[in-house]
Amino acid sequence: MKSIFEKIIDHELSAEIIYEDGLSIVIKDINPISPKHFLVIPKKKYKNIESISSNDIHIFSHLFSIIQKVVAQEDLDENGYRVVINNGEYGGQTIDHLHIHIIGGRILRWPPG
Ligand code: AMP
Repeated sequence: MKSIFEKIIDHELSAEIIYEDGLSIVIKDINPISPKHFLVIPKKKYKNIESISSNDIHIFSHLFSIIQKVVAQEDLDENGYRVVINNGEYGGQTIDHLHIHIIGGRILRWPPG
């Protein structure tokens, strides 16, 4: 069964796409927790961090290069922002398709709940 993110990647479900390339897509989170909240999603489905094989581990450098682009594009680089992966049940992951949250536009507290 396709994940919500696969449906968005395949343009079967609409989303606000702010960046796309051959390997990844960046969308606005539908339920933002801050003024700027984006999801960086690899097009290939990895359930979680553990699902990424050593052959595919380079996907992280790609995703982090996309984060650099997006935070510059969205003017988050000056004041800072947070990058989060909710991984697995205890990590609070709700969609089993690895994704990286970019959260910014306000001061964020620590620790998270
Ligand atoms: P996580 O809890 O880390 O798995 O995050 C899943 C995120 O996906 C949540 O922040 C949701 O608000 C977001 N989300 C769920 N459905 C959609 C959608 N159709 N478009 C954009 N974001 C979504």
